[in-house]
Amino acid sequence: MRRNADELNKMRKAGKVVAEMHEVTRAAIRPGVTTMALNNLAADVIARRGARSNFLNYGRPPFPAVICASPNDMIVHGIPGDYVLQDGDIISIDCGAIVEGYHGDAAYTAGVGEISATAKRLLEVTERSMYAGIDQLTIGNRLHEVGRAVQQVAEAAGFSVVRDFVGHAIGTAMHESPQVPNYWPGTPGPVLKEGMVFAVEPMVNVGTYDWYERDDHWSIMTQDGKLSAHFEHTIAVTDNGPEIFTIA
Ligand code: MG
Ligand code: MG
Repeated sequence: MRRNADELNKMRKAGKVVAEMHEVTRAAIRPGVTTMALNNLAADVIARRGARSNFLNYGRPPFPAVICASPNDMIVHGIPGDYVLQDGDIISIDCGAIVEGYHGDAAYTAGVGEISATAKRLLEVTERSMYAGIDQLTIGNRLHEVGRAVQQVAEAAGFSVVRDFVGHAIGTAMHESPQVPNYWPGTPGPVLKEGMVFAVEPMVNVGTYDWYERDDHWSIMTQDGKLSAHFEHTIAVTDNGPEIFTIA
């Protein structure tokens, strides 16, 4: 779906709130902090900005928090709680906000204290794969070039791209059609037009892309217990190229 100038402005505002949630949580990440403490900082931003959370009560069972916090071998959808961040962990924070009915959605992975060389490389490669995908969001290009670009970067580094969780169009709902795979799905997908908005969100694993779900029905773990990282932005297709909404 194409969004008009007024809608894009609302999405810009939602994106700014999400960027601020990233800023305050990132600044608080250190050994000894719980994932619930990070959630509460993000909730404060939502309240302060008069926004609403698109994560809280999402899905079944209803998601109980405003951020997902996924450490180490957790790929996505971690429920914040009493988990205490340890020196050497990596932690993926995914969050969103609604402003005037329009959604923003973005994620990052950060190191806690001193992290391994492999973890550092995973974070760098995953973020770079996201930007390679974002660069494909130009008028006239085909949507699935995003996934092709992401996959090239991740696999060139010897990592794998998660298949079963993907990016998405976004607007008056967080998850709209079409989906945005982080790999080449075998077809070029729709032609990109001005005013389309997508969340590009590669999840990249050190080992296999296979996964399992924990008994809480949310936490998605790597099958082999190796590390996973996740970066995401909300981006509009504009006649000046891709415009990232979820940055400060
Ligand atoms: Mg998303
Ligand atoms: Mg997200």
